[in-house]
Amino acid sequence: MAVESHAISLSHPKPRRSLQARVAWGDHVVTVGGDAPVRVQSMTNTDTVDAIGTAIQIKELALAGSEMVRLTVNTPEAAQAVPHVREQLDRMGIQVPLIGDFHYNGHRLLTDYPDCAQALSKYRINPGNVGKGDKHDKQFGQMIEAAMRYNKAVRIGVNWGSLDQELLAQLMDTNAQRAQPFDAKQVMYEALITSAIDSAKLAESMGMAPEQILLSCKVSGVQDLIAVYRELAQRCNYPLHLGLTEAGMGTRGTVASATALSILLQEGIGDTIRVSLTPQPGEARTQEVVIASEILQALGLRAFVPSVTACPGCGRTTSTTFQELAKEIDDFLRAQMPVWRSQYPGVENLKVAVMGCIVNGPGESKHADIGISLPGSGEAPAAPVFIDGEKAMTLRGENIAREFHQIVETYIEKRFG
Ligand code: SF4
Repeated sequence: MAVESHAISLSHPKPRRSLQARVAWGDHVVTVGGDAPVRVQSMTNTDTVDAIGTAIQIKELALAGSEMVRLTVNTPEAAQAVPHVREQLDRMGIQVPLIGDFHYNGHRLLTDYPDCAQALSKYRINPGNVGKGDKHDKQFGQMIEAAMRYNKAVRIGVNWGSLDQELLAQLMDTNAQRAQPFDAKQVMYEALITSAIDSAKLAESMGMAPEQILLSCKVSGVQDLIAVYRELAQRCNYPLHLGLTEAGMGTRGTVASATALSILLQEGIGDTIRVSLTPQPGEARTQEVVIASEILQALGLRAFVPSVTACPGCGRTTSTTFQELAKEIDDFLRAQMPVWRSQYPGVENLKVAVMGCIVNGPGESKHADIGISLPGSGEAPAAPVFIDGEKAMTLRGENIAREFHQIVETYIEKRFG
C-alpha cells in the first residue's frame, strides 16, 4: 500500500499587536501586552483593612504564580491600609505589583490618600460607576490625574453587571430608530466596547500615555465574552485584560473560564488573564492562579510547573498505585516550584509521565523527559523507567513510588541544577 504524506499545518496562537504597558513596583517591572508573555493575575478576598491577612494572601497568590494581584480599595480605612500591605510584602521580599480596585469613590480615595496612590502599581477604574451625569468626566479625570502624577498604569474595566446605564440607554434609543434594529444583546456588546474605548480616549485626551491604558470588558457568558473580545481586539490596540467574570464554582467555573479564554488566547486576544473562580468552602484562593497558569501552559503559551502526563486508568489498571503516584509527583513538583523557579531555571519545562500499563505506558514515557509505566493486570510486576526517551531501569517491589520520586529529583538536579 502506498503511503502518502501531507504537510499538516502546525497549530500556533495568532500574534496580536498591542501596545505594551509597564506595571511596576520599584525595579520590578511586569510588562503587559506587546511581545510580553500573557500574564497571570488574581485578586484577594480578604478585607483590605486587615493589612497582615491581606499581605499573607497576596504572598500566597504571588508564590503560586500570580504576577500582579488586585485588592479592593473601597473605604478610607482600606486606602490607609494599602501602604501597610505594601510594606509587609516588601519586608517579605514579595515584589508583586498591586492593583487597586476602585468603584464609586476612587477619585476621592486616590486624592485623599496619596500614600495609597503611590503604593499601588495600577488602578482599576470602572467607567460604569465613576460618577453620573456631569460628575462622570470630572471624577474619572481625578483618577487619571492621580495615575499620571504617580506614573501608574490604569485598567479601564467595564463589566456588564455595572455597565454605564446612560450610555446603554442612548445606544438603545439610537437602535430603536433603525429601520432594522439590532438584537438587544448586540446593543449591549456595543455599549461595553464603546464604554471602554471612549473612556480610554478620554484618558488620552487628559494626557495619559496610551500604552499605560489596559482595557477589559467582562461578561459572564462564554459566547458573549468571545463575541465582545473579538470585536474589542479589532477596534483598538490597548493591552487587554481577559477574564470571564463571575465564572462560578468548581468544575463549572473552571471549564467555562478555560473554554472562553482558550478560544480567545488562541486567536492572540488577551495580554493578561484572571480566572474569577468562586472558591469552594475550604478551597485555597490560589486555585484561580493554578487554573490560569494551567490554561496558558495547556495552550503552550507559557510554562509554569513541570507537567505530569498520566493516563486515566481502565480495566487494565491493577490498583490505585499509579493514580497515587501521579498525584504525589504532581503535588511534589508544584510544591517545590517557589524554590525551584530560581534554583533550577527551566525546570518548568520538564515533562513527567506516569502511566498505568504497557499499552501506552512505554510510548508516552518515551515522549516525556522522564516516565514510568506501572504494571497493569496480568503484566509482570515490573515498572520500566524511561529517561530522555531511553529505558534506563526497571523498578520492582514495594518501594516503586519512593524510588521513582528519588529518580525524578536526581534528574532535575543533574539537568537543571
Ligand atoms: S495506559 Fe493502560 S491502564 Fe492507562 S488507560 Fe491506557 S490501557 Fe488503561
